[in-house]
Amino acid sequence: MSLITVYDTTLRDGMQGIEVSYTLNDKLQIAHKLDEFGVDYIEGGFPLSNDKEAAFFERVRRERFDRARIVAFGSTRRPGRRAANDAHITALLEAETETVTVVGKTWKAHVTEVLGTTPEENLEMIHDSLSHLKAEGREVVFDLEHFFDGYKDDPAYALHVLETATDAGADVLVLCDTNGGTLPDEASAIISALPQERLSKLGVHFHNDSGTADANSLAGIRCGAVHIQGTVNGWGERCGNANLCVLVPNICLKTDFEVSMADRLRHLTSLSRFVAEKANMIPEKRQPYVGEAAFSHKAGQHADVIQKAAHLIEHIDRVLVGNERRVILSELAGKSTIVRKLARYGAFDKNSKTVAELIDILKEKERLGYEYEAAEASFDIVIRKCLGRYRPLFELGNYHLESYKTGDVPSKTVGRIFLSCAGKQIMGAGVGIGPVETLDRALRDALTPFADFLQRISLIDYRVRVLNPEAASASKVRVFITSSDHEHTWDTVGVSENVIEASWEAMVDSIEYYYNNYVVEDAKPGTEIRPGA
Ligand SMILES: [Zn+2]
Repeated sequence: MSLITVYDTTLRDGMQGIEVSYTLNDKLQIAHKLDEFGVDYIEGGFPLSNDKEAAFFERVRRERFDRARIVAFGSTRRPGRRAANDAHITALLEAETETVTVVGKTWKAHVTEVLGTTPEENLEMIHDSLSHLKAEGREVVFDLEHFFDGYKDDPAYALHVLETATDAGADVLVLCDTNGGTLPDEASAIISALPQERLSKLGVHFHNDSGTADANSLAGIRCGAVHIQGTVNGWGERCGNANLCVLVPNICLKTDFEVSMADRLRHLTSLSRFVAEKANMIPEKRQPYVGEAAFSHKAGQHADVIQKAAHLIEHIDRVLVGNERRVILSELAGKSTIVRKLARYGAFDKNSKTVAELIDILKEKERLGYEYEAAEASFDIVIRKCLGRYRPLFELGNYHLESYKTGDVPSKTVGRIFLSCAGKQIMGAGVGIGPVETLDRALRDALTPFADFLQRISLIDYRVRVLNPEAASASKVRVFITSSDHEHTWDTVGVSENVIEASWEAMVDSIEYYYNNYVVEDAKPGTEIRPGA
């Protein structure tokens, strides 16, 4: 079956998503991560738009990429100019990439109303721009903006645009659904109606405004497209782009088409989380294949089946995409879930004393307001304590925080903390805006000399929920913290009438979880339980 080229636009279209922004260094790191994953093309940005974008191309020239080609993106020349002395075209050439992508108009209304020129001049602009870039030795990808709407409005003109670009030597013609309004059956019908034998290779670029960007892209390759464009996590303008974290595994695992990164699919989850981390966004839990929920099971019955025959309940083997299976805890889940949770520490059966003890602890903790469904790392600590496999990193002496505010100046908090760690009495201090941040800083200040792994850990999400709002300001609160070391993420929980105390509990669990699971050798799962420990 044919090979589908994967073209990533995380660093260009992806940057147009709300709340997404990357520094120059982030962009370079993401580009290398995409290259390691094996995408064929990485669209680096729009060199004419600003200095940061131009700087990216300058830096990237000096770096080595194994598989991916870096692509500069820009538009056709402006009306009434020559490509040879147009700023857009010059910027594309000055980016010095082997491949360039040029976007041009297909929808007549956009030509006359937005561009303010004639349909004939638009064709001339396309021909002149593309043939000039070809003459300069570039591989040229041509993005046909609003192709599907343009085609619906005037199929003959849209075809004219395709033929003009083919004639000018474009290597790939990318049919763009710029406003994301097309449905899969429409996309199939339109692509199938094109005289493909007379045209350059076809590609597709779908947006997700109708929730069908991924389905449209699959429909596109079934109808003859050999190039797909998308972004990691599907983030992009408005509702986003086709999601490579969905498309690539779908193509690899569920179709006869091939992609060149099939041998690297197990790095998909890590790629998705890496990009989320760089964008400072919380990874979408419910994302297919790579989300935390993708292989999570909650109901007791499901958890039972998982132990017996996972393939009866999961659509693929999670290992293929590098994701983890989670069995979620709740009172509903019952003994089999607890047994499953304990499996990493040894063989336990439903009737064992430990299972009964844990069920009692779980019930008591839930009564107090703890919830472990979204805080598995805290439950791991509960299990460890029950099994005698908990190795505390430190013990709290006391902490002291003081918040102050003067006039209109933003408030500040200073704090000190006293701990014992490795047989020593230690102190840390911190200053922050709020008390939680200050406490975190003081704790790190004290512990980092003894635990340099703390430098790898960052807090990526913090959520507070009021448990009994009727008690007003004396309410109990539940705090959830999500932490990450750039490879794993884990969640912890704390409950108290005091929000600082609840945060402290969740913070301590987070550090202790990491310490016990990834740092202390004899505490890691899989090691023998020492008698009496
Ligand atoms: Zn787009």
